[in-house]
Amino acid sequence: MVDADPRRNIPRTDHLLNLPEVVAAGERLSQATIRSIISETQTAARTGEITVAEVAPTVIRHLSSRSASSLTPVLNATGIIVHTNLGRAPLSESARRAVADATGYVDVEMDLETGRRSKRGAGAKQALLRACPEAEDALVVNNGAAALLLVVTALRGGRGASAVADDATDDDRTNSDNSVAADEIIVSRGELIEIGAGFRLPDLMMTTGARLREVGTTNRTHLDDYAQAIGTETASLLKVHTSNFRVEGFTASVEVAQLRGLADEHDLPLIADLGSGLFEPDPSLPDEPDIASALAAGADVVIVSGDKLLGGPQAGLILGRSDAVQRIAKHPLARAMRTDKLTLAAIEATIANTENPVQDALHIDVDQLRERSERVAGLVSGTVVAHDGRVGGGGAPGVPLPGWAVELPEELARPLRLGDPAVVARVHQGRCLIDLRCVPEADDDRIGEAVNRARGNHA
Ligand SMILES: *Cc1c(COP(=O)(O)O)cnc(C)c1O
Repeated sequence: MVDADPRRNIPRTDHLLNLPEVVAAGERLSQATIRSIISETQTAARTGEITVAEVAPTVIRHLSSRSASSLTPVLNATGIIVHTNLGRAPLSESARRAVADATGYVDVEMDLETGRRSKRGAGAKQALLRACPEAEDALVVNNGAAALLLVVTALRGGRGASAVADDATDDDRTNSDNSVAADEIIVSRGELIEIGAGFRLPDLMMTTGARLREVGTTNRTHLDDYAQAIGTETASLLKVHTSNFRVEGFTASVEVAQLRGLADEHDLPLIADLGSGLFEPDPSLPDEPDIASALAAGADVVIVSGDKLLGGPQAGLILGRSDAVQRIAKHPLARAMRTDKLTLAAIEATIANTENPVQDALHIDVDQLRERSERVAGLVSGTVVAHDGRVGGGGAPGVPLPGWAVELPEELARPLRLGDPAVVARVHQGRCLIDLRCVPEADDDRIGEAVNRARGNHA
């Protein structure tokens, strides 16, 4: 039977809702989700994308493949370790277990011994202080940007909360005199960065009502530039790591250790936003600052992200002198940036355990990477080519991480992304490059199978 207007035959919603498979899916998925899948499928039939006969099977297929959220796990075959579009750092197995364990009721603010209230985040803090003995205290907030906002807001004039009382007799402590609106943050012009997606650190800081006093020029800033700018309105000195770009050639910048002297002279807080979370210097990334060195050089507090080189969940870590960190923790804004229990669990597990996929990918054995690449190339009849990985949005701009990749035709990239498992390869100069640096070795075979399926689907 052929109807002139096939749309009249599109199965009705109540008919679809009563199909046994759809009723069964109701135990897993909400009615709203089921109805939206039905409605999308009916629309697809109405617009001729699928035939009327395909409506019921399509609804059933979509319902069964629907995961709990719309986020699709992917294998990162780009060679970019901290890939912002892929959620930055992948968590280690122990961090994943810690997150899973924290999902229900958990003693995040209770001492089970006494039944009394305890300090939220104590475990994460202890893990941080063990990993970084240079820090007297630590605080975890939602992300690096939140940490920066909170720190510049809370530390305005005077190095710590107790500084006003302790040093009240000190004559040159103009900056913590409450009659002066100390709201100027002194920062080098070369360090006013945009961190991605159009978000700029200077705009962020100005939302706090602070004013930025830019010193120096784009390529060169000297200690004297800072010294000249300090006045009664100075709130703090800020040093920002230019994490996502590099100025080359005729450049000069002032290090934390030099700024310390100036900060002492004027009793100002010295803040260092480091971006990536290295605890100690990493010889493979010589230009990347680390927490221990910045604190040893005299920063009152340092700020790092949890999900860059640290390899943890999205978080902003604030470490430093106890008076400064206490003052930050007590600021009302700190409550608005409070970390979730899942994040606290993941941070603690990331720091307390040695297993760390980000560090593994960074320090991968290049010969082993080549062997793995050759094996996968054999499975998919591809060619192994030299290929540099990258740290990614998380830092070390322009630093190549030498390695290997399996070269395939460019047109495989799309079916690979849309396959199951979804594989995100690097598309570069008309080629599809599979870099196994960030792929767990146990998934090599799945990559091979995915490529062969993508080939089949593409052919
Ligand atoms: C990444 C970065 C930030 C922002 O941190 P998020 O965790 O992404 O909010 C701030 N400052 C610097 C120097 C950075 O590299």
